[in-house]
Amino acid sequence: MSARAPEVRLTRTRRLLDAPPVKHVPGQLAVEVEPPLVEDAPPRVCQHGNPRCGAVPVRPYPCGLRCEEHQPARTRPYFRAA
Ligand SMILES: [Zn+2]
Repeated sequence: MSARAPEVRLTRTRRLLDAPPVKHVPGQLAVEVEPPLVEDAPPRVCQHGNPRCGAVPVRPYPCGLRCEEHQPARTRPYFRAA
């Protein structure tokens, strides 16, 4: 092994990186892969009550998304906001 061996290997590797990607790799099946379906995120509306309040804008709380009126400080259990 000569002292220039690493340089030669690096040059070969760089040449491989510059080469265009191979169309078909022997032994591999060319399959068109569809992009994964993006699940619709739940709408960012107030999750207070049943039926839902549904107001916007909302802020995230440990109990979920709440609007200004239904934030935890105002809607404690068994407490009705006036
Ligand atoms: Zn609300």
